[in-house]
Amino acid sequence: MRAASSAVGLPVAPGAPPDLSEALHAMVRRLFPICRSITGDGVRQTLAILGEYLPGLQVHEVPTGTPAFDWTVPREWTVRDAWVKNRGGERVIDFRAHNLHLVSYSVPVRGWFSRAELDAHLHSLPAQPALIPYRTAYYADAWGFCLPHAQRLALPDEDYEVCIDTTLAPGALTYGELLLPGESPEEVLISCHLCHPSLANDNLSGLAVAAYLAQHLAQAPRRYSHRFVFVPGTIGALTWLSRNFEAVGRVRHGLVLALLGEAAPFTYKQSRRGTAIIDRAAALVLAENGLPHAVRPFSPYGYDERQYCSPGFDLPMGGLSRTPFGEFAEYHTSADNLDFVRPEALLASLHAVQEILAVLDANRRYRNRSPYGEPQLGRRGLYGPVGGNLHGAVWQLALLWVLNLSDGQHSLLDIAERSKLPFGQVLEAARALAATDLLELLPD
Ligand code: ZN
Repeated sequence: MRAASSAVGLPVAPGAPPDLSEALHAMVRRLFPICRSITGDGVRQTLAILGEYLPGLQVHEVPTGTPAFDWTVPREWTVRDAWVKNRGGERVIDFRAHNLHLVSYSVPVRGWFSRAELDAHLHSLPAQPALIPYRTAYYADAWGFCLPHAQRLALPDEDYEVCIDTTLAPGALTYGELLLPGESPEEVLISCHLCHPSLANDNLSGLAVAAYLAQHLAQAPRRYSHRFVFVPGTIGALTWLSRNFEAVGRVRHGLVLALLGEAAPFTYKQSRRGTAIIDRAAALVLAENGLPHAVRPFSPYGYDERQYCSPGFDLPMGGLSRTPFGEFAEYHTSADNLDFVRPEALLASLHAVQEILAVLDANRRYRNRSPYGEPQLGRRGLYGPVGGNLHGAVWQLALLWVLNLSDGQHSLLDIAERSKLPFGQVLEAARALAATDLLELLPD
């Protein structure tokens, strides 16, 4: 039974629609060519595509100069073209060939440069000479090009014409937000960054998993309200937080999703609190499903958990990824491409997140209404027809644990952890007992 279904009875990969993994990858493929940054039309185009999948998605525009705590919404960056031409007029570095070639937020430039002058603005990776690195200059008033190290070494010593046709001007920072109301106004917050250009694992895998997660959640009744925010990294999360103190106060659990497309073990990064329910639910799901994974303690670095877990907010938000940022060779290079992200890995990531959220949703407290001695289970038909076999023994144990710990203090997650029984068994036992006179569901 445990092998065929998940902790809370969701279908795992074999029972899923056969094309879901392909649909996830197709979304990544569709978003891949867009040149995103922390502001600009690339973000708007990305949100327009996400909106096709998520009809309730709201797009917010926050003007340049708007304060966000210690930060300020920057000027908007627009890029039309960028190239370096040799004396023969050939484009030797061409933004149109790959958007990683241009340092993000490069200021406009037009002119002739010597080989040495140009080289001061070039970025490459000597240890990975075939790859284009990803570089940004958000707050630097700088410009530059990124290229394979081998290509850089091969540039002859001659003058080069440089054109960076960009604009940095007052505009807006754009982010997307989707609220799926539940029975309770209390919220689960899911956050993804959407500011990277043609990089597939970082950050399109997180966007695709979050989009399909939202689609799935929208189709079923929900206990919690679920809020999805699609924001440019750092400044976007800060901007959202600064405008949403009320919603922040309703967040009971949350996850930052990123780097979920690589076929590598999961990494769960704990919230700053370390013992939040999300921390326990994530660890339980990854362990129960036998998924290769590591659990890491919080650190004030990484993605936007840095902001959500800053001391003023201290939200119970963890981070789910595969290999963490900076720890895989393809990270922030042109090798983080559509081949690096695997359809089956995206699907397994989606299922892991679905299960974590399902545990949160099912994690209730009950009260044993017959707490003086053990009640007679057989008389109430609770042993079922399978008494005597292993399933029967586990089932009986689950009933006894639920009855014993349902003193109004312990949740189903507490019971699963302490009994070391699968969460799904504990949940099933609680539901069976609650259908009799023995157990009552307590309000949140
Ligand atoms: Zn990144």
